[in-house]
Amino acid sequence: MAVKHIDTGVVHKGRKGGKTGCGVDTRKKPSHWASTSSRVTCKKDGCKN
Ligand SMILES: [Zn+2]
Repeated sequence: MAVKHIDTGVVHKGRKGGKTGCGVDTRKKPSHWASTSSRVTCKKDGCKN
């Protein structure tokens, strides 16, 4: 499962309601995030691998 940051279109590892692989807490701005089955596009450590 992956989670998309709507403003940037970047897809991160993780899920809405938790932290992304690169450490962003999606609970702080829940309206900025959407669950997706798209490929992860974030290049930061924790998401890219
Ligand atoms: Zn990320």
